[in-house]
Amino acid sequence: MSARAAAEVVAAVVRPEIRALSAYAVADARAMIKLDAMENPFTLPEAIRAKIAAIVRDVPVNRYPDGGGRAVKAALRASLSLPDSVGVVLGNGSDELIQIITSTVAKPGATMLGPDPSFVMYRANALYAGMRFVGVPLTQSFALDIEAMRAAIERERPALTFIAYPNNPTGNLFAADEIEDILRRAPGLVVVDEAYYAFADASFLPRIGEFSNLVVLRTLSKIGMAGLRLGYAVAAPEWTTELDKLRAPYNLNALTQAVAPLLLAERELLAAQAATLKAERARLRVALAALPGVEAFRTQTNFVLARVPDAPRWFDGLRQAGILVKNLHGWHPLLAHCLRITVGTPAENDALVAALKSLY
Ligand code: PMP
Repeated sequence: MSARAAAEVVAAVVRPEIRALSAYAVADARAMIKLDAMENPFTLPEAIRAKIAAIVRDVPVNRYPDGGGRAVKAALRASLSLPDSVGVVLGNGSDELIQIITSTVAKPGATMLGPDPSFVMYRANALYAGMRFVGVPLTQSFALDIEAMRAAIERERPALTFIAYPNNPTGNLFAADEIEDILRRAPGLVVVDEAYYAFADASFLPRIGEFSNLVVLRTLSKIGMAGLRLGYAVAAPEWTTELDKLRAPYNLNALTQAVAPLLLAERELLAAQAATLKAERARLRVALAALPGVEAFRTQTNFVLARVPDAPRWFDGLRQAGILVKNLHGWHPLLAHCLRITVGTPAENDALVAALKSLY
């Protein structure tokens, strides 16, 4: 088939809103200091790598993986001390769970609500599933505008509300009593996305039983396992039973299922890495705030949002210095001249600050 014929068929059958999109851009970060994607910067100790190698060696890759993800679920239930009364759904990253949750409730005409700016994949998935997305602007200090949220819930009657707790890309944690208020008023499902829970002081996970419309979403990506692609949703079993119906039967590959329980059992290592990153976050924020013209916002995540004098120029200057961050300028009026900088190793953070100083 010629390229022209393919283009014609595409034009005829692909949904116009999909054709209008550009694919999620993942920058080529080879040989760069990578501070753009909230990964954990630490590689694993040799002893654990050897254990992984031994486990992987015996994985029967000729067979489909366990469709129920039982070993992973058991490891999660143990490490989180989850009661049997709550359900768990596993996803190929929490990105997949966002898609599954959205598809589950996307009746024609249904609305997704969320504070704005927040994680871009909520809005994207509303579009994929044919839902209407209504964004409620945050205040200038990135707090929830609770009056506007209440009004939007009344007006829009959302089937689904996504709240990132803490929020990406602003880094702050919204007030818990305001999220409670949203949970009580929302007629539909409310997802509290705790991708950054390891770096925050608060969680709704222990409160699943209190709210019949709450799903807590989490990921292992920010605590050192981004490459495994594993996320989980915790909610009342009535919800997880429905969500599981949309999950592809073998969505978690065999290697991930073999390795994740081993890493989840390394509680001390995970806790020590999170503690180091929190200390580095504080150090990085102080160093950024000390730069003339830079505002570094408070954060409960493993990244720091900073407003700089000229974000596009600073982003390019950093890239030329071999450092990749995320330029958010142009994403939303509240993010004008903002860069999102993932907390790296102490050496990487030092390199970043040195490179920024050379940009003046
Ligand atoms: N939720 C939030 C708030 C995020 O920031 C991210 C990653 N950027 C995700 C979900 C998705 O993470 P993953 O698919 O790696 O689990």
